[in-house]
Amino acid sequence: MRVRLDDISKVWGEVQAVSGVSLDVGDGEFVSLLGPSGCGKTTTLLMTAGIYRPDRGQIYFDERPVAHLPPKERNLGMVFQSYALYPHMTAGQNMSYPLRLKKTPRDRIAVEVQRLAELLGIGALLDRKPGELSGGQQQRVALGRALVKEPELLLFDEPLSNLDAGLRLTMRGEIRRLQSELGITALYVTHDQVEALTMSDQVAVYQEGRIVAYGTPAALYDTPPNRFVAGFIGNPPMNFLNMSLTAYEDDVQGEAGGLSLSLGAAPGSRAAADQGDVEVGLRPEAVSLGGGLRASVFAVEPLGRETLVEVAVGEHRLRLLATADYRAVIGESVNISVDGAQAHFFDPASGDAIG
Ligand code: ATP
Repeated sequence: MRVRLDDISKVWGEVQAVSGVSLDVGDGEFVSLLGPSGCGKTTTLLMTAGIYRPDRGQIYFDERPVAHLPPKERNLGMVFQSYALYPHMTAGQNMSYPLRLKKTPRDRIAVEVQRLAELLGIGALLDRKPGELSGGQQQRVALGRALVKEPELLLFDEPLSNLDAGLRLTMRGEIRRLQSELGITALYVTHDQVEALTMSDQVAVYQEGRIVAYGTPAALYDTPPNRFVAGFIGNPPMNFLNMSLTAYEDDVQGEAGGLSLSLGAAPGSRAAADQGDVEVGLRPEAVSLGGGLRASVFAVEPLGRETLVEVAVGEHRLRLLATADYRAVIGESVNISVDGAQAHFFDPASGDAIG
């Protein structure tokens, strides 16, 4: 089922929680709503669910307007951070609950629940109460309960936040596998960019009640449309430098606080030079150890597979990634190089990408 949010808004007293949000989610697509706390993701999800009614705008499931319909008439499954299981029912009874409400015949319920439980790897746990299950198992039961009524839309609100790192990784893969196998359209709220980037076909990035970018994970990473998205997506985050650019016949030079960079090979550098003073964004992978720029080591963080090194160059600090075995003393002199071809340019006033 295709889901379309058309210019929806929601105000809570003084707070404009969601402000003119439009979003088009294709049939079977997995779309994340990503952004910092309080930016309106959950409010958007709950309007899609029918729990809140938009003050303005319309929501379409395929061509059908649904903004006035209650949740039970929308044929959707929801999975929350708090698993919201009934504690007095067994896992099997929790999973079968939506079908019992629909008065599905008992023998069909048993077959359906067992089939889904096997798919979710909890086939042997159906007689246990939620209190006798681990967090990951409870989340699987909650997922099973959402899936059992064969919804046309799955809505997730931070479903993995209560799980430890290892289980989050496993569940990420499982949710995505199940969702694509079953071909159900999904909206997934998270503030975790890794979750959003690894699971989604498309990501909607939120800032203060608005969608400020919508695209595939690769597009948002490679060509962020504005500074907020550039800084929010990518870990370790992008480096930002305020620079004055000058265009020469064969290059564009960026200057700032004792640092001079050749940026002519980067897309948009000529347009950025026309503007003069811009914000230059450099991902850590555009900076490397070795080269002609003098720097000093400011901080070293071993990350396991690699080492995050922060160096001071002139008045600036730049993050770069070194090999796992890299060792350095804080304050030590090092040489670095910057691949100016990988630079991004942003308007310092609007934050919009240039070029
Ligand atoms: P989080 O990641 O923290 O859940 P979010 O991006 O999902 O954040 P929302 O829960 O949509 O954000 O909240 C957006 C804004 O609306 C916040 O300022 C919040 O305090 C406010 N808000 C949300 N629900 C209500 C409500 N029922 N009554 C009043 N204000 C609300």
